[in-house]
Amino acid sequence: MLAAAALAAGAPGAAPAPARIHAEVDGTAFAIGEAGVRTWVLRSATIVAGYYGTFPVPELRLKITPVPGSGAKGGTAYPGRGPGIHVRLGRESGEAVLLEDWVLVHEMVHLALPELDERHAWLSEGLATYVEGMARVAAGNMTEVALWQEYVDSMPKGEPAADDAGLDHTPSWARTYWGGALFCLAADVEIRAATGNRRGLQDALRAVLAASGGMRAEWPIERVLAVGDAATGTDVLARLYREHKDRPVEIDLAALWQRLGIEAVDGRVRLTPSGPAAELRRSLTATPPGPAPAPAEWVPAGG
Ligand SMILES: [Zn+2]
Repeated sequence: MLAAAALAAGAPGAAPAPARIHAEVDGTAFAIGEAGVRTWVLRSATIVAGYYGTFPVPELRLKITPVPGSGAKGGTAYPGRGPGIHVRLGRESGEAVLLEDWVLVHEMVHLALPELDERHAWLSEGLATYVEGMARVAAGNMTEVALWQEYVDSMPKGEPAADDAGLDHTPSWARTYWGGALFCLAADVEIRAATGNRRGLQDALRAVLAASGGMRAEWPIERVLAVGDAATGTDVLARLYREHKDRPVEIDLAALWQRLGIEAVDGRVRLTPSGPAAELRRSLTATPPGPAPAPAEWVPAGG
């Protein structure tokens, strides 16, 4: 049994086997054909693998349904021992539109976090929202300016409204997606400040994935936060969670942007090119040193 397990895990020091994406798709339904769809899927997988150091799960069932129009029209990630993603893709999608797609990256990020209780959806959606942008910039799929422009425009939506009861008790769209993303941004900056910029949220998330196997597991939120904090040698995640879970807590966004060297002039973002603020900001989207993860493999239906 032990030998078989060791064999399955690969020899010590050997590169892990590439993830296999079992695609259920009719390529003839799309203007770009199966080859174009495959390029989009594998690029999205590479972006997510770059952030986590590995694609989150060894096997993924991916169902792509054709819908009218252009672009990815939404998706869902399904938990379980063999996690799956269902994504709806416009029949007329061109390569340029898919090059800028965030939907599939978002769904693939979901694969890296254990399933949480429904009241913590803000953490899974917030992470998927936050990591999608960070990972795309790190992979060269999005510019730094475009990322921060989006965050300056959208993060204010994540602040508590008048009737807010804290992140665990306010399941609105804005608090779930942007409130969660704002929590992640604040945590990332806090971890970097507490560790002299040697650790970040990425280290916490990689540790959670390694310990849990991602969406194949179901964990209490406290365990996710504890494993993440242990990886950074801080208590940032547990402390921020205590502060934000049952109470409406505003995050001082103006101070946060200043800390990151981000200025908005007439609504247009300008980034400080150098100095400690620029260094801190760039560390959020930098790729850590280390070998690039093995690219995922496309396995057509029935393969
Ligand atoms: Zn999501």
